[in-house]
Amino acid sequence: MTKKLLKFVDLKQETPLKRETDKRRKDFNEIYNQFINDKAKEQSSRCSQCGVPFCQIHCPLSNNIPDWLKLTAEGRLKEAYEVSQSTNNMPEVCGRICPQDRLCEGNCVIEQSGHGTVTIGSIEKYITDTAWEKGWVKPVKVTKELKQSVGIIGAGPAGMACAEELRKLGYQITVYDRYDRPGGLLIYGIPNFKLEKFVVERRTKLLKESGIKFVQNFEVGKNKTLNELRKEHDSILIATGVYKAREIQVPGQELKNIFSAMDFLTASNKKGLGDKVELFENGTLNAEGKSVVVVGGGDTAMDCVRTAVRQKAKSVKCLYRRDRENMPGSSREVGNAEEEGVEFIWQTSPKQFLGRDKVKEIEVLKMSLGNPDSSGRKKPIAQAGSEFKISADLVIKSLGFDPENLPQLFDAEELAVSQWGTIKINLKSMQTNLDGVFAAGDIVRGASLVVWAIRDGRDAAEQIDIYLQKKIKNNKIKEVA
Ligand SMILES: Cc1cc2nc3c(=O)[nH]c(=O)nc-3n(C[C@H](O)[C@H](O)[C@H](O)COP(=O)(O)OP(=O)(O)OC[C@H]3O[C@@H](n4cnc5c(N)ncnc54)[C@H](O)[C@@H]3O)c2cc1C
Ligand code: SF4
Repeated sequence: MTKKLLKFVDLKQETPLKRETDKRRKDFNEIYNQFINDKAKEQSSRCSQCGVPFCQIHCPLSNNIPDWLKLTAEGRLKEAYEVSQSTNNMPEVCGRICPQDRLCEGNCVIEQSGHGTVTIGSIEKYITDTAWEKGWVKPVKVTKELKQSVGIIGAGPAGMACAEELRKLGYQITVYDRYDRPGGLLIYGIPNFKLEKFVVERRTKLLKESGIKFVQNFEVGKNKTLNELRKEHDSILIATGVYKAREIQVPGQELKNIFSAMDFLTASNKKGLGDKVELFENGTLNAEGKSVVVVGGGDTAMDCVRTAVRQKAKSVKCLYRRDRENMPGSSREVGNAEEEGVEFIWQTSPKQFLGRDKVKEIEVLKMSLGNPDSSGRKKPIAQAGSEFKISADLVIKSLGFDPENLPQLFDAEELAVSQWGTIKINLKSMQTNLDGVFAAGDIVRGASLVVWAIRDGRDAAEQIDIYLQKKIKNNKIKEVA
């Protein structure tokens, strides 16, 4: 029907109706932009410019927040953007997805005095979105090309930030990634409703226009070993993130329709990007009409429940073994999920998954809370005889991520890792135990935040530059291309 109608309506043809619609749209956009602009100004002017900028201290990038708030309040948006981008490679991303309640905004003096925080994240997003719209965001212009090349493994925020900073200095940069698109968890982990994919794609396009080479579908360990890459580049950065999903070790886990959070979120993100995703199309990884149960209490679990709601699940439940106060995820995200109709079943843990071929029910155990464990949160203790059942036809496991076995995967047994499998680095030089090989982001910290990955990527770029300049000085490598 819609197709038939479209045949008769040529949307490009100039008609009085189209002219009127275009004019109304333009008027609406103008009013809306003015409204947002006024809101940003009003919020920015609430900043008291306090002597000790607690917001800046609690921002991992030490963003100069009071200055760009002042500039925004004065309507000097271009200058605000310049200040904001000088410490952050993706302010529009951080503005959207930083857990501001735990970082800048949570430490705003006005918030502390009970008057509600200045909405720093939204203003940061507004400034940078405006900069993109006005064409102020430009690719890197290299003034002096250098001969040295750096190979970056992983096109997530850590790899991308490092690539951009090194390119500014003139280095030749190649970023290798096993996914088909750059962005790491920005593209395939974090859902579109939190971070629209065009925001990530325009950043990677900009990096390509800056002369950074991206090699996709390239898995280090499979396509080339780490040592082979070391021979091709003067320095290497490992920024591969953490991807080994933690498992639930209970009977019935082999049943069908039990998936990991990344399987579920990647399918949903790929679908949103217009890819053909067979497991989504045949209904396997689509929550529509299903009773969905997500196991876990972190931010990834919140992304899963909220994605399932958007896919029109029949019901969405979240099982978490501790209580609300002891949840690892952001309380803001839990509130959002509750508002959207997600049911939280606190202090419960799966005992077994039940069903013949596919999962049909979960037998769960009630938990009581003991003394704090190594995570600082109260230790859950199973209560014998407290079992009850919950029906489920799609279960998503979201218990967190550990690093993969990188030394084995990279065919580099000599690469030193910690007892948790994260890469060991010298915290000052960011270098691993291998000469010229650096590491940054989640693969060093364990699962963390985008803003920390950006910070690490920037720090690594600085250290790689120091390392390479030393080599040039000692005549070990030539300088100019
Ligand atoms: C579902 C989800 C939601 C999240 N939401 C938020 C949020 O709202 N706010 C926030 O701040 N943080 C969030 N995070 C955390 C955040 O995404 C990560 O901390 C951040 O992306 C880490 O950046 P990274 O560059 O270290 O690694 P990643 O983003 O994981 O990127 C690593 C890249 O390395 C590539 N790679 C891995 N191994 C190889 C190999 N052998 N060869 C080649 N390439 C390889 C991967 O394909 C990937 O592209 C979320 C995480 C998840 C899982
Ligand atoms: S980067 Fe994150 S923590 Fe820093 S100012 Fe922006 S939103 Fe706040």
